[in-house]
Amino acid sequence: MLLPNTFLKRKIEYVKGIGPAKAVLLQKEINCSTVEDLLLDFPIRYQDRTAITNIRDIKMDKEWVQLRGILQDYRIIGSGRGQRLAALLTDDTGQIELVWFKSLDWVKKNFIKGQEFVVHGKVNQFRNSFNIAHPEMELAKTKDLQSFKSFIPIYSSTEKLTKRGLDSKGRMKIMRSLVSSLSRNDFYEYLPSEMIEKFRFLPIFETIQNIHFPSSALELKKAENRIIFEEFFFLQLRLIKQYLVKKKNLKGLVFDKVGDLFLDFYHNHLPFQLTNAQKRVLREIRRDLGSGVQMNRLLQGDVGSGKTIVGFMTALLAKDCGYQSCLMAPTEILAQQHFQSISKLAKEMKFQVGILTGTVKGKQRKELLRLLKLGGIDLLVGTHALIEDPVIFDNLGLAIIDEQHRFGVAQRAKLWAKGKTLPPHVLIMTATPIPRTLHMTTYGDLDVSVINELPPGRKEIKTMHKTEFYRPDIIKFMKVQIAEGRQVYVVYPLIEESENMDLEDLNNGYEKLLNYLPRPKYQIGVVHGRMKPEEKDAEMQRFAAGTTHVLVSTTVIEVGVNVPNASVMVIENANRFGLAQLHQLRGRVGRGAAQSYCILMTGNKLSEEAKLRLDTMVRTNDGFEIAEVDLALRGPGNIQGKEQSGKLVFKKADLIEHKNILKASREVAQEILEQDPELLAPENKGLRKYLEERHGNAALWARIS
Ligand code: ADP
Ligand code: MG
Repeated sequence: MLLPNTFLKRKIEYVKGIGPAKAVLLQKEINCSTVEDLLLDFPIRYQDRTAITNIRDIKMDKEWVQLRGILQDYRIIGSGRGQRLAALLTDDTGQIELVWFKSLDWVKKNFIKGQEFVVHGKVNQFRNSFNIAHPEMELAKTKDLQSFKSFIPIYSSTEKLTKRGLDSKGRMKIMRSLVSSLSRNDFYEYLPSEMIEKFRFLPIFETIQNIHFPSSALELKKAENRIIFEEFFFLQLRLIKQYLVKKKNLKGLVFDKVGDLFLDFYHNHLPFQLTNAQKRVLREIRRDLGSGVQMNRLLQGDVGSGKTIVGFMTALLAKDCGYQSCLMAPTEILAQQHFQSISKLAKEMKFQVGILTGTVKGKQRKELLRLLKLGGIDLLVGTHALIEDPVIFDNLGLAIIDEQHRFGVAQRAKLWAKGKTLPPHVLIMTATPIPRTLHMTTYGDLDVSVINELPPGRKEIKTMHKTEFYRPDIIKFMKVQIAEGRQVYVVYPLIEESENMDLEDLNNGYEKLLNYLPRPKYQIGVVHGRMKPEEKDAEMQRFAAGTTHVLVSTTVIEVGVNVPNASVMVIENANRFGLAQLHQLRGRVGRGAAQSYCILMTGNKLSEEAKLRLDTMVRTNDGFEIAEVDLALRGPGNIQGKEQSGKLVFKKADLIEHKNILKASREVAQEILEQDPELLAPENKGLRKYLEERHGNAALWARIS
């Protein structure tokens, strides 16, 4: 929020109670250098002085309370330096001791016994009774009772600030005089009046007054509402504007025909019927490709929803228009799998698929790169190796990125530069659903397609939560499944900080399993991050080939690995995994025709949060629902990488709690920009000025990535 007025740009050293020395300190400690900064550094919370507590109801140590009662006889306790003054305060429900260590005479003279007071203070517990030291007292019958009936702002402070008298109370004093010196003319209203009326916002002046010194709970709420709305609204204005500018300026290759190859595949070579969701997404993609604007589309679909074939068919569209494609995967194993499944799809087609990873070397690599440059390869599958400099396409028109959360912005940019004339169209496939609220605040520049339907015949994975007590049953269950020809994953967490202990867990678990499931009848493999890549791959291959029955591993199998015959996923210490990870892991099973199971193993003692995660997993297979819970538990900053979370520092707004305000703010922003994209209409001038002052012209109207 910004208050565009020169008065508010004044240096804080001129503010009453601050001066040059404290101004320097405030600048250093809390980054406030202007009056505006101070006004926008809102209280972190408020003490509610609108309610009176019954003395009987005091239950907690360190609780702030406001009481109303009669002051009883004073007593002097102790002597010398330890001397103190005590008095009982009584109301209809009980009594509590008030204590003073200083200014005893002053206290006795000013607070006359037998009178009724409103008392405010922090409760201390002493053995079985409570007392309040140095309470704030006010005669209950004075007119000024009003001052108690309010909210006291609590400001943040630091050690250095506190030393100079700028603790919360000190800051409050300064703010009180500052705020009371302000007048309506110091502010100009930047929100359109229509918006203020529609949402019943307080005007900006009253908003600032009430956020610091609320006149009532209702006014505080109103002030907070406006601030929350503004935080979302200005972000939305910028994101939507950036999106529109991007759409206008990003010329894209035009794929305007649905050619022979695509149609031949569609009519003659589809290995199965596409789901309606897949068809819809393909239509959305085709619309993008023909529009003349570069496609930037995020394709979300749960594990197993069939994203690969959509990517492949998009590559066919590219080839029909004379362009090459590439598909980038985060790991070697995944790249290999994509290569295999896509080669299979392309078998009957005139469509060359190549693979480039770190292990493709020497002559083979040279030949591949030569072919690529000549246009002899239609789709190049690979890892990060794809974006290295020597990789030159003849005519790259489409870049497909799988599981994009592993790719940074810089890498994306490098890929873009591989287009000859214009950047390639970009299709990002992810199985990690992004809650809509998060999408609205971070990925404003991507279009989204969702595959919200699994191919027919899939059985829901059955998920259960078990404790160690059930271990024998689980071993029995594994044996039954193996006897039916199925395979089993057993996964252990591996957290970097406790890596050694985790590895020990894994090794112990492996040893135990060897006892339960003896060789040679049962074959058990192990995979973990400390192994050499070749060993890891060999072990994975053995499992994929069905040679091993059980694969004990750390989360290296997390993303994308496809062994349709595996039907049981046992997750050990499941309480230590995050929801997104649990969901990804579970997605490793349920890929074949057999009923699949996910067993979450934990000890008996669990935190509330862990319980909620496990319950969520047991309750639902829906990735979007899980993502919502995950967001609620972890907060937005932790879900997206650091680069994203910077945008999500809100003072008052909360993505989960204020979801509806976010939606409303987005709609309003959309409406305004639709009618007045440059914000030139008189009623929108304030908005434009606000954005220019805050973000500068360039930041607003230029494109981002
Ligand atoms: P993901 O979205 O997790 O990448 P895949 O593309 O790997 O999913 O597809 C998962 C499995 O489902 C693959 O074996 C694929 O062949 C199969 N599949 C995809 N679409 C369909 C469909 N419409 N009908 C039947 N099977 C499908
Ligand atoms: Mg996939």
